[in-house]
Amino acid sequence: MVMQSFSSSDPYLEMQKAVDIVGSSDHPTNKIAATLCGLDKDGKEYSISRTNFWPQLIASHVGTDKDIGNSSGTIHAETACILTAPYTFGSSLFITDPFCPNCAKNIAEAGIANIYIDHKGLSKDWIARNEDAFRQMSLRICERAGINVYKIKRKERKISAILEQPADYKPLHENPVEIEEIAGDFPALIAEKCKQHEGHEFACALAEDKDGKTLLMTARRHAAIGYSREKPESMEDKQGKYSFIVQPITRLLMNAPRNGLKLVDGSVFCTRVPTAREQVNMVGAGLSQMIIGDMDKARDDGGFTALEQLQNARILTANTL
Ligand SMILES: [Zn+2]
Repeated sequence: MVMQSFSSSDPYLEMQKAVDIVGSSDHPTNKIAATLCGLDKDGKEYSISRTNFWPQLIASHVGTDKDIGNSSGTIHAETACILTAPYTFGSSLFITDPFCPNCAKNIAEAGIANIYIDHKGLSKDWIARNEDAFRQMSLRICERAGINVYKIKRKERKISAILEQPADYKPLHENPVEIEEIAGDFPALIAEKCKQHEGHEFACALAEDKDGKTLLMTARRHAAIGYSREKPESMEDKQGKYSFIVQPITRLLMNAPRNGLKLVDGSVFCTRVPTAREQVNMVGAGLSQMIIGDMDKARDDGGFTALEQLQNARILTANTL
């Protein structure tokens, strides 16, 4: 039996919870579910199970048959768990299937310590088609971030390591998200941050802790935890589908639960139009408004298209200061 970092829950039971709901995923072909369990900031155990899903507003106002810009409109099960968790640092994630590189980066940002994959998921379609992405990117991201990855056989009650980290491994974390006490209103804070991070793409947002105290979070666009900022532009896979870079809004969304915080809707700023994936993640996190520094700038055209779609459908609104 593998030791879990904080939680005392039964790993077979936690995996079973994911398996039990996977059939309810609204995805027609790739049905995936995950359970995230850990301790909240009061030390109380929680366990959250989610399938991959289309945020309700996207499903009803745009449709599940359309992409949002150059991103799918779905939130993956692993990311859905993170977005709803009270506190993710040191938690354990149980997934019915191997995870994609985007979720790997999110899991690392959220500070999750252990990942368990159902052994049946390792012989399914996705892994056959995406073996490279899983081995070359997802697992490498976990290795650098210091996350343990296990294969779990429920019936045999057997857990085996796919990737196990030395207990004293400390990942390179050269650009952590800043979290500060605030003084002044949000526009004034944005102006201050724009000066401080001049020339960088970043996002900042107000976030509340469990006692209702408001803090300011600031994140630059950066390589995944464990990677250096050197040559961040060349950190894409051969197909250009995935990259080792984490966009600033996504970093805020994952670092809020990492720190037991919740982002405040209407108080999210980004220096440029967020990528389509960042925007879909925002919708998945229940956010409906953002403030953009330069409306004419985006990483790619997908960001502009996504914003137009989401604004027209009144799902997400963007304002300048
Ligand atoms: Zn994923």
